Amino acid sequence: MDRRQFLISSATGAAALAAASVPVSCSSGTSKKSGAVPLRISFQEGIAPREELNAKLDYMESLGVVGFEPGGRGLAQRVNEIEQALRGRNISVSAICAGFDGFILSSDPAVKAEFDASFKDILAAAGQLGSTGVIMVPAFNGQEPCLPHTQATRDYLCEQLHELGEYALKCGTSVILEPLNRRECFFMRLVSDAAAICRDSQSEGIRCMGDFWHMQEETSDYAAFISAGDCLRHVHIAGRGDRKMPGETPDVDNYVDGFRALKEMNYKYFVSFECGSEGDREQTVPAAVELMRSQWERA
Ligand code: MG
Repeated sequence: MDRRQFLISSATGAAALAAASVPVSCSSGTSKKSGAVPLRISFQEGIAPREELNAKLDYMESLGVVGFEPGGRGLAQRVNEIEQALRGRNISVSAICAGFDGFILSSDPAVKAEFDASFKDILAAAGQLGSTGVIMVPAFNGQEPCLPHTQATRDYLCEQLHELGEYALKCGTSVILEPLNRRECFFMRLVSDAAAICRDSQSEGIRCMGDFWHMQEETSDYAAFISAGDCLRHVHIAGRGDRKMPGETPDVDNYVDGFRALKEMNYKYFVSFECGSEGDREQTVPAAVELMRSQWERA
């Protein structure tokens, strides 16, 4: 059984177990037996200060980075390239970052159809690559034409996500909802907002994430992650002052409270860099990795 088959059968098994214990929920049980929860660091494709994919992966390996987060655009055409580049390495594909056309809440059937087709293509490729899931925002503020924000639209969103989540499970992966903030997505601005949509979508294939940059409206990083419980499938990290490299705004780049929740939850997925850098990446990237490790240790 190769890795992909394992993931597919695991996902199928998980789905079967879930079906046997309805209702689907984001149970937020924590465990105090979490002494050795490893920090699994991932980089988006633009983070490593190298040009070519293999050079980026060599660099990541030298820092002990174990996850790679490519963009979703054109992913189906890149499956072979990425598989080849990862062969024999201790790096796996973490999440896939968006890259689809259209959006799920569009009121224009043609735009919705574009979304359905392109997102399913990315899900299939994500499954082939053993990815944890594909990141999506259902609608950004100002994205038009959009269904009105009503109860009926929320019900529709959950129905559509249910269908997509079941498709994702068949592909051996998931859909990962990314909460933002009120300026970018007013109806999904807290990790718990996304977790509630996961619960109401009634599919194990609908999961969510937290992004330390977007989590500015949370009253507690700790409570935000705990609220997602088993639905938490991915985390993004960036400097909290200006979305640069963690450590470049040292007064505010504190992740300990959130990391403490991840450790208590026995979080087993990735914490992935999604950020720019003010300084020389040859210095700022290794320093950020070191900062994350020391704060994880303290958490
Ligand atoms: Mg993000």
